[in-house]
Amino acid sequence: MTINALDRVIEIIGPFTDESYVPGPHVKEFLENSKVLVIGAGGLGCEILKNLALSGFKDIHVIDMDTIDISNLNRQFLFRAADIGKPKATVAAEFVSKRVKGVKITPYFGKIQEKNEEYYSQFTLVVCGLDSVEARRWINALLVNMVDDENPESIKPLIDGGTEGFKGQARVIIPTISSCYECSLDMLGKQQTYPICTIANTPRLPEHCIEWASELEWVKVFPGKKLDKDNMENIQWLYEVALQRANEFKITGVTYSLTQGVIKNIIPSIASTNAVIAAACCNEALKIVTSVNPYLDNYMMYTGNEGVYTYTFQHQRKEKDCPVCGKGNGYLTVSIPKDITLEDFITEELMLRPDIKVKSPSLRTVRTVLYFQWPPQLKEATERNLSKKMIELVNEDEEIVITDPALPFSLRLRLFYE
Ligand SMILES: [Zn+2]
Repeated sequence: MTINALDRVIEIIGPFTDESYVPGPHVKEFLENSKVLVIGAGGLGCEILKNLALSGFKDIHVIDMDTIDISNLNRQFLFRAADIGKPKATVAAEFVSKRVKGVKITPYFGKIQEKNEEYYSQFTLVVCGLDSVEARRWINALLVNMVDDENPESIKPLIDGGTEGFKGQARVIIPTISSCYECSLDMLGKQQTYPICTIANTPRLPEHCIEWASELEWVKVFPGKKLDKDNMENIQWLYEVALQRANEFKITGVTYSLTQGVIKNIIPSIASTNAVIAAACCNEALKIVTSVNPYLDNYMMYTGNEGVYTYTFQHQRKEKDCPVCGKGNGYLTVSIPKDITLEDFITEELMLRPDIKVKSPSLRTVRTVLYFQWPPQLKEATERNLSKKMIELVNEDEEIVITDPALPFSLRLRLFYE
């Protein structure tokens, strides 16, 4: 067998090597026998798969629910034009297995939610290259729940990479030990929304005109017809209507691609940022599995939009209050206006607040069901509550339990009326 750079890292003790580290062939054996799961085979996932394979991992699994689109080809370098329409996971697995000798990559084309604890428990660690908050919350909660205090092997480290234009972050989550994904949800900004009165009456930005076309004009012109965000004709229509509106108000900057960006909420993905973040994640995977060097503790942010700046810090675990890894009777405290209705509370607070951000929540208190989206009978029976004021339904110190199909856990919160 040829000596490569990796052998040197594994066999030589360096200044930062852990004191208890014993170099030798067993380390490489352990690396080769470990089973790693990669979630996502998109911009980050392609890089992660390539890096892991080139770092000595031999048994890699990959899950992705998407198929290859022509717009992916500029950065997702494991795909070719002939692959359009095929599952990303399968094509990426084939490409890397063929290219890197001795590596076995097992793809799964589907959602992470389709797999159970037993499936996830076979892995040494999980590396995530996702662009969805929902999927990250799900896998994070699952891995935290899987921890059995009696069995250290039940702790599956989660390495999470994320990028947004020139910015990105890599983090190491050791379930129940370090801060989890849910602990840091409030670091995400509140979703960009524009007040409906501005959109309707006093637009100032090109985005206002695009929102006007999609939120107000579309339903007026095509009542009952759902806007298809992937349909080029639909986007073209919105673009033309928004442009006309912009001209009326002397606003410049409405373009087809901006229209598409606003409607699909597209965050530009930059190949090199993906490469930086994926590389950081894969080095952590290598360090965790081999113990050659201390791993990231626990959050690295990369800011490339104004010069280059990286910062590593230890994000604190919300030991008491985290709804996923908290040990206490953790609940969130939310302060709301006295006259807010249940419906506005759901759409303006629960759906928008970064630390809650649920999509179709059901709510109850100990005394009563406030609103349930399912089953239909319960939905019908509780729908009349939507127009009622929160203060009529819930007392100030009463606990509200929120469940959502996207979350494998329930959120608890208490209200405080302003
Ligand atoms: Zn947590």
